[in-house]
Amino acid sequence: MKISVIGSGYVGMATVVMFAELGHDVLGADIDKDKIEKLNNGIMPIFEPGLKELVIKNIEEKRLRFTHDNKEAIEHGEVIFICVGTPPKATGETDLKYIIAVAKEVAENMSSYKVIVHKSTVPVETGEKVKKIIKDNIKENSEFDVVSNPEFLREGTAIKDTMEPDRVVIGTDSEKAIEIMKKLYSPLKAPIIITDIRSAELIKHASNAFLATKISFMNSVSRICELTGADIEKVAEGMGYDGRIGNRFLNAGIGYGGFCFPKDVQAFIKIAEQYNYDFEILKGTHNVNEEQKKHFVNKIKEKIDVKGKTIGVLGLAFKPNTDDMRFAPSIYIINELKKLGAKIKVYDPEAMERSKEELKDIEFCNEPYDVCKDSDLLLTLTEWDEFKKIDLKKVKSLLKNPLIIDGRNMYNPEKMKKEGFQYISIGRKSV
Ligand code: NAD
Repeated sequence: MKISVIGSGYVGMATVVMFAELGHDVLGADIDKDKIEKLNNGIMPIFEPGLKELVIKNIEEKRLRFTHDNKEAIEHGEVIFICVGTPPKATGETDLKYIIAVAKEVAENMSSYKVIVHKSTVPVETGEKVKKIIKDNIKENSEFDVVSNPEFLREGTAIKDTMEPDRVVIGTDSEKAIEIMKKLYSPLKAPIIITDIRSAELIKHASNAFLATKISFMNSVSRICELTGADIEKVAEGMGYDGRIGNRFLNAGIGYGGFCFPKDVQAFIKIAEQYNYDFEILKGTHNVNEEQKKHFVNKIKEKIDVKGKTIGVLGLAFKPNTDDMRFAPSIYIINELKKLGAKIKVYDPEAMERSKEELKDIEFCNEPYDVCKDSDLLLTLTEWDEFKKIDLKKVKSLLKNPLIIDGRNMYNPEKMKKEGFQYISIGRKSV
């Protein structure tokens, strides 16, 4: 089938690769010319494990190409996936300007039946808005259907998540669109949930809000652990064996970040407000997340006076295996420490280039050991495997002061004590 994907970011790139691998004729589009030029030259604009190989393979096998001309993409696709960004406004509401712009372009350039699928995360009732925009702006009298098909991939495992999804959600009121979408997705052998557009849109917001709440809940429990001398890792282990709870997403840390949870929680609170419902739980989720970052800075301040000190930071990305810095907790933490007069040295395996937009006047190092050299304190903010396997003896020999404050509970406190470190982590006894 001819498929177009508009928006070649994390979601768009995973989508083009998945459909090309399934044998479809895929055209990826993006408004960003530089991104498209890079892609056409086999250079990935984002870091995502496994992406580059599959893009190059599918370009060579002529199932995938890229354009910066949305018109070409609209003409090409029988099914058009909209994967553009849906950033938050200052108020927390979703800014739909990119979705609206694409919907207008689709209307103006459509000359045959199309299935218009929004994969971007959008507030409930956006499908109806998209439908209306297309109806109001349509040039030729072509038929179309609108589908909500939210994406659940996680950055860092985006390709696997897209090729082997836990479920596929198809929200539409059109039987014809359901058949087309089922045909596209059935080779993935995942459960397919067919529903109305509004329920599909809500499934996405509810899922992300629930996962964010799980994280904030565990961060709250970690605070009780710190106050009582209990161990959050053991508490999580003991909870996780309960099948109703599950053992995933129970990690305490420095709070969630990225382009999904922070904005989606805020957006869901705003959506509820529009319907006069006070989504109190989610307000708590958001507040705990903000508080957790502050709490981490306080832990540092309680341990040392950071003014004039050199602080080494391992990890910037909001999670491992991605270069994404959007809403990463590291931004808040580093900027707060800078305000307090600390000198900051950092290393991240993939996110340094992107973090340069957000983090100014800090030293970017070529490897983790450069960060450690002569630092008064070492912080770990992203749990990359590279840091879990770091040579602790070498780290100790390089640090001016053997003090590690770990925002991701990467190391065993007893082992750290034996290695001669002062070690502070989240929800566990300091040693
Ligand atoms: P992104 O910022 O990485 O990519 C969006 C792309 O859309 C950009 O490359 C941008 O240039 C392009 N774009 C904007 N306007 C355009 C237009 N008019 N025409 C063509 N291209 C245009 O964003 P992302 O992380 O891929 O997220 C996209 C959507 O998917 C968001 O709604 C997000 O909430 C949702 N989502 C993201 C993830 C994730 O982990 N990143 C997971 C699930 C869902």
